[in-house]
Amino acid sequence: MRQQYTQNSMHKWFVGLCLMLVLGACAPAQESPQGSVQSGAADAQVFQWKMITTWPKNLPGLGAAPERLAERLRVMSNGRLDIKVYGAGELVGALEVFDAVSQGTAQMGHGAAYYWRGKNPAAAMFATVPFGMNGQEMNGWLHYGGGMELWRELYAQFNLVPFAAGNSGVQMAGWFNKEINSIEDLQGLKMRIPGIGGEVLSRAGGVPVVLPGGEIFTALQTGVIDATEWVGPYNDLAFSLHTAAKYYYYPGWHEPGPTLEAIVNKEAWEALPPDLQAMVEVATQAINEDMLSEFTARNNAALDTLINEHNVQLRRLPEDVIAALRTASAEVVAEIADADPLAKRIYDSYMGFLQDVRRYHSISEQAYLNVRSEPAPAQTE
Ligand code: CA
Repeated sequence: MRQQYTQNSMHKWFVGLCLMLVLGACAPAQESPQGSVQSGAADAQVFQWKMITTWPKNLPGLGAAPERLAERLRVMSNGRLDIKVYGAGELVGALEVFDAVSQGTAQMGHGAAYYWRGKNPAAAMFATVPFGMNGQEMNGWLHYGGGMELWRELYAQFNLVPFAAGNSGVQMAGWFNKEINSIEDLQGLKMRIPGIGGEVLSRAGGVPVVLPGGEIFTALQTGVIDATEWVGPYNDLAFSLHTAAKYYYYPGWHEPGPTLEAIVNKEAWEALPPDLQAMVEVATQAINEDMLSEFTARNNAALDTLINEHNVQLRRLPEDVIAALRTASAEVVAEIADADPLAKRIYDSYMGFLQDVRRYHSISEQAYLNVRSEPAPAQTE
């Protein structure tokens, strides 16, 4: 009732204003059957944006998210927010997205916050933390646990407004050209692994390499790297990583449910009228959920294809290797808090939420998965 009263009042005010103005200076107003006031002039402006991404153009999964986001916004806004999507390297390089959107070269970007650890080590916590939160928990922290406010505060320093815009779920530990039987096998291992996970691998004796997705296959095939993580069966199959390495390891200790991001240049964001801002908010939330749903639906079949059609050797990381990585992770993550006062607040917020959600999930999600469990897929020989 109150909303209706407000709309009616606004309508009367608007009509009154029109009468006072010179005829023709005010756009014709019409009340639709739903009660909304439509003004031909006010919502006629078209915003043509560029969205640059860290993903190869048309990559399934990760690369589908920005395409779908742009298409939905185009339809929702009746063409008023018209976004052209560029794959990595088309307008700027994959790892230049953050700076390019910050500087206004493009109005929007799609990527992952752990690529920007060089800006602030705490940025990575808005993507994923080794042995940290899964996708469901990240969504809880970001949207109802104070995470998003901190993310906005951090990115405001770089002229950016961030949104959660995708999640892959728990990833795989990666592709290796030799078996990993003990922590000794990680010594000197050159592995593509971004984010905090890369630093953890370094502490465990490995050599982390940061490469954008589009460069992984060639690096692995030519022996520039010995191992790589990418995403999970669905996206890894799309990259044909099984043709460059034989052993496929789980679990993805380093990326237990990474949030992907959409970033918007602050001036471009502030130039949008409130209805288009609301559409961006809603469309990014939708794509955030959409990606997790797609990976959940497609990873199973892709893993079957990898094992049954491509003879991939599935392996679980040994317990002592996982234990060593967990110890190194705790060290590396704790150091984030030392970077600056905002990094400490981000660290405290993340770790506090993790502690609380872990306690409850031990008797809910985790307890349920344990009682539902069936044996893991057999390790292949
Ligand atoms: Ca990954």
